[in-house]
Amino acid sequence: MRGGIDLGGTKIQVVVVDDQNKVVREARHPTPKDGGPAGVVNAMAAAMKEAAEAAKVETSALAGAGVGSPGAADPATGEVSQAINVLPEWTGSHPVGADLSAALGTKVAVGNDVDVATDAEFQIGAGREFDSILGVFWGTGVGGGLILDGKPWNGRGAAGEIGHMVVKMHGAQCGCGRRGCMEAYAGRGSMELEARKRHDDGEHTELFKIMRHKDRDRLSSGVWAKALEEHDPLAEKLVHRAVKALGAGVASAVNLLDVECVIIGGGMGTRLGEEYASKIEDAMMPHLFKDDRPPAVRVASLGDLGGAIGAALLVSE
Ligand SMILES: [Zn+2]
Repeated sequence: MRGGIDLGGTKIQVVVVDDQNKVVREARHPTPKDGGPAGVVNAMAAAMKEAAEAAKVETSALAGAGVGSPGAADPATGEVSQAINVLPEWTGSHPVGADLSAALGTKVAVGNDVDVATDAEFQIGAGREFDSILGVFWGTGVGGGLILDGKPWNGRGAAGEIGHMVVKMHGAQCGCGRRGCMEAYAGRGSMELEARKRHDDGEHTELFKIMRHKDRDRLSSGVWAKALEEHDPLAEKLVHRAVKALGAGVASAVNLLDVECVIIGGGMGTRLGEEYASKIEDAMMPHLFKDDRPPAVRVASLGDLGGAIGAALLVSE
């Protein structure tokens, strides 16, 4: 058995998988807001131990554990850097691989979260019949992962930032400081800012009532899904706007790369599912140069656990 850890800004999702990559046990802990990198490593170790115990295996008996982390993960050194916009107090570079390996008593490999989730869909998920895929992870931001001719494509280390494809010149302000990025319209963080602004300006919406009812402090994917179910007009408007932006941005990426398949994952992507993947597919059509042979568009089949399963694949060799 192997362990996989998906490290996110709000939660740490852990799985124990068998040699067929089937999930044997899982555990989920909140990402600690204080305690810095050491606190995050301790929380990952605790979650892994909990899942391993439930699977009746010592962590030291695991064949290894993988971590999918935000930011830049160096597979050679196990260090993670550039994660400060997602993880609190994460300045500089931290030896996640070495520290976690010491805590668990087994070897640990690290990779970028979006890359491992894309690789999981490619190897055992919705993209397994294809050679070239684009993973689009629609969540708080919009991340992208690329497999071209069977191999991950990272460029000089920063490829796949599909959220920052420009869909409108001089458009909406993006969290990255630039304007008009796809993420400025489609990222759940930007959607929430826009919803708050319009709500404050007097537009009617049930979004924040649903949020409080669900005991959340932000507009989670579940809150958006519930508001859509109730035909909340502002939620419908903002999700429609997000879908249009995704259509333009993803189609532009397809015009450049001509991948066989686009996989829609992430919190929003998996929660809204087939219905919205097909809306994104429709929104791509007017922007596709070769519109007589569009790529397949699929929902990530590993769902919420894809990141953790992908992390476990890091130690499969
Ligand atoms: Zn941006």
